[in-house]
Amino acid sequence: MSTLAILEFPDPRLRTVAAPVTVFDAELKQFVADMYETMYAANGVGLAATQVNVHKRVLVADMSDDRNAPLALINPEILEKDGQQVYQEGCLSFPGIYADVTRALRVKVRAQDVDGKEILIEVEGPLAVCIQHEMDHLAGKVFVDYLSPLKRGMLLKRMEKQRKASA
Ligand SMILES: [Zn+2]
Repeated sequence: MSTLAILEFPDPRLRTVAAPVTVFDAELKQFVADMYETMYAANGVGLAATQVNVHKRVLVADMSDDRNAPLALINPEILEKDGQQVYQEGCLSFPGIYADVTRALRVKVRAQDVDGKEILIEVEGPLAVCIQHEMDHLAGKVFVDYLSPLKRGMLLKRMEKQRKASA
């Protein structure tokens, strides 16, 4: 396994719309294993293929405290959503910045596993936030898109300052 390089905003490649996965082979399994390794190494709770510059509909997540509940979704689709929650989100492509985003409380998702078998799950709370956040990446969207221009400008300025300080 190997860790993959994570694209950081404002890298324009984060705006790429991912294509569906059609081949479920050893290469896909290896890629998912590398995504898990990359997510855990970066202490993230979720990672979309877009963030590692692979433009296929693949995401991984693990919202558990013990980091032992890995979930990989291939070709995820939201079938139903309801309710509303505000959650403070971060993103591995935006090091050091966090912001409150409003999303659906519950989502019903259809996806495939690494073997191409159908997965149907209903999740709520933080895991529902995570899946919606990662699915946005696959559509070329990022969480700061939900913020007001003023708030977004402030956060991006802060991120830039931190980047310069650590360079
Ligand atoms: Zn993200």
